[in-house]
Amino acid sequence: MPNTINVRQNEIRRNQNDLLYAGVKFSAFGTFGAALVVTYTFGAVSGHNNALAWLSLIVVAYAIRLYDLLAYNRRTDKNDSSSQWKIRLSAGALLSSIAWASSLWIIYPENNPAYEALLILALGGVAGGALATLPYDKKLNNAFQLILFLSVQTRLFVDASDYAASLSVVSFFVFGFLLVCGKEVGKNYIDLLSLRYDSQETNITLMKTTEEMAKVGYWQWGIGEKSLEASEMLSSITGLNSGITSITDCYKLIHPADRPSVKNSIMKALHSDDDCTVEFRAKNRRTQEYRNINQVVKRIIDSHNNTILIGTVQDVTAIKQAEERIYNLAFYDPLTSLRNRASFHDYLKFSVDLASKQQSSLAVIYMDLDEFKSINDSYGHECGDALLREFSEHLQRSVRKTDVVARLGGDEFIILIDNLSSESDVIATVERCLSFLKQTITIGSYKINPKISSGVSMYPQDGRDPDTLIKNATIATDYIKKSKPLVKYAFYSEQMTSDLVERVRLEADLRHALKSDQFELWYQPKINVNKNHMTGVEALIRWRHPIKGLVPPGLFIETAERIGMISDIGAWVMRTACRQQAIWRRSGLPLQVAINISGEHFTAPDFVSDVKAVLKEFDVQPNDLEIEITESLSRNPEEQNVVCRELRKIGVKIAIDDFGTGYSSLSVLGEMEFDTIKIDRSFIIGLPDNINSQLMVKTIVGLSAAMGCDIIAEGVETSEQLGYLMDIDCPNIQGYYFSKPVEVMNIPKLTQLEWMGQRAA
Ligand code: C2E
Ligand code: CA
Ligand code: CA
Repeated sequence: MPNTINVRQNEIRRNQNDLLYAGVKFSAFGTFGAALVVTYTFGAVSGHNNALAWLSLIVVAYAIRLYDLLAYNRRTDKNDSSSQWKIRLSAGALLSSIAWASSLWIIYPENNPAYEALLILALGGVAGGALATLPYDKKLNNAFQLILFLSVQTRLFVDASDYAASLSVVSFFVFGFLLVCGKEVGKNYIDLLSLRYDSQETNITLMKTTEEMAKVGYWQWGIGEKSLEASEMLSSITGLNSGITSITDCYKLIHPADRPSVKNSIMKALHSDDDCTVEFRAKNRRTQEYRNINQVVKRIIDSHNNTILIGTVQDVTAIKQAEERIYNLAFYDPLTSLRNRASFHDYLKFSVDLASKQQSSLAVIYMDLDEFKSINDSYGHECGDALLREFSEHLQRSVRKTDVVARLGGDEFIILIDNLSSESDVIATVERCLSFLKQTITIGSYKINPKISSGVSMYPQDGRDPDTLIKNATIATDYIKKSKPLVKYAFYSEQMTSDLVERVRLEADLRHALKSDQFELWYQPKINVNKNHMTGVEALIRWRHPIKGLVPPGLFIETAERIGMISDIGAWVMRTACRQQAIWRRSGLPLQVAINISGEHFTAPDFVSDVKAVLKEFDVQPNDLEIEITESLSRNPEEQNVVCRELRKIGVKIAIDDFGTGYSSLSVLGEMEFDTIKIDRSFIIGLPDNINSQLMVKTIVGLSAAMGCDIIAEGVETSEQLGYLMDIDCPNIQGYYFSKPVEVMNIPKLTQLEWMGQRAA
């Protein structure tokens, strides 16, 4: 660091000059006093004229030095190069040394050993005095003393008297001693000065490095002053100049909103002994960019009893940003930037507490994107993400600024509406949110029609804590999903919870039922009225529940389908029905048995081979087994049709159950492989009077004739219905008119009945 060394040397030199010049005044007055005494003492022995001449010499020499001192003090540029002053001062000092030495010739008391010794001693004293006034410059001090010493030696040598030799020896010791002293004094002083600068420099470097490393700047302000002293780091943070800086300039950089708190902390620091910390935003004057600043202010009282405020200032922008990122990650959903579950929960808790204090009410709206998984699966995750983002934006647009929208995860969203004035506010909000349903969302090249279910719970009536409110909003949503009504949202009711409890219990019981043999098959006769004969039966499952008694299939089949049990149940039904068919056949009752198979089971990979195995196991003729499937149940008619074809190939009969209620178009129907159409009960109910029912039933019967397949009407309850069906040539009848489903042991005796004119119970 050559620059620093130069600066340091200059600094030391300047300081040296200051001290040396300060010594001039002292040495001038000291010298003048001593010169007067010498003039008076030696005037008597060497003549007054000589003495006065010498005194004038001294006066001139010192007048020159005093004049130089005056010039030094008056110099305008205090930082100028100091070597020139050093030369001037040295010249002055040496001039005075020569003036003193001249006394050895001008007022020398020849042949007067006592006075000679006295004069040499006096010069020794002057040389000693130099030690006091010139200790700050070793060389100058030495030169001053050497001039005197050499002059004394020369004079004594020229004198060549007997005692001159002895005086020479004595003076040698006196001056030798002074020279050595001078050397030491000078050396110590320079060392001290260097040391002081070294430590100052180290401190400055240390502080600068610390500032840079910790990014801590500092300032110092004497109370009442208009400016403060700012460190380099502070100036780099603020863009102001370092050193003395105007307070107003600093204040202007603080963000207006943060000024009161900064002021406060300074006032607090002024009136206490503690440090006061404040965080604020300050603009950098150069970049015009706001930075986050952490400032600690402390009051100190200096040795002159002045109050000084010292502040450290740290740029914490990066820390703040990192904190913000962590905060966002912890509290916000990265995909939609909505609050996440944890942060929603916290917010809801806060709102519930507030609502309980203010006795106000709030609503929690739960929103679930239905079939989101299949969107993800068929269009890809990117498309799914885009839909979630679109939906979250729509939700935010649909609520007030004060309402909170959050994403709980996956396709679940939740909204908090507080300070409710009426329930209609909630309805309006939910409907705005659900208007998303009416839109066709275009994502890339795909067009998506979103489906949403929503449930609402209200504070205080539906729950008084966040967990209950969220749970009940979810229950209401689930309820809407199950009941598939036209409206897409529901307000929570207690009934929903009991339904849910019931459902969960049902699922558990159902899993248990198969293992513990709680199912049984009941059979309902199918009558051919032309033959007046029972041609077959439909096997209908019942659940003999240990507590509830006999449970009809309408109450559990859907649940079994949902929890993936329907194939196991279907397999049990098939085995039981086939075993029963074989028993009847062996006892001379050749009844065709129909079983109901759900779509999922029917299209399962092993279904056909299972059917074959069961037929073989119980030795059942394939055409004694009929499988009833519904057209609406299978989402994939082609897949279903493949199974139908394979089954028909081996002779198993296929019936389309609930015909007319599904969505099959005529073209699909034309391609379908089946043996029998079962007209759904809903068309039979209206017979014989309802025109629409008549039309439907007639059409279906005509269709079956045209396609060459069998036809059967189910749900026939009255003789009028029966009469109408017979009139339009539908000979196969199933229904309460003839018989309700009955337990297995009742079937043999029913086969004995003459059906026309007789009926079962
Ligand atoms: P489904 O296949 O349409 O069965 C006919 C249903 O109508 C039976 O109800 C039967 O008792 C009822 N029924 C018959 N005639 C009349 C009538 O004249 N009037 C009235 N009101 N009802 C009549 P059930 O036994 O309660 O079965 C209901 C549904 O449960 C069945 O409708 C079928 O879809 C399903 N199911 C029954 N057993 C099984 C089974 O073993 N497996 C599967 N997957 N589903 C089954
Ligand atoms: Ca059926
Ligand atoms: Ca049916």
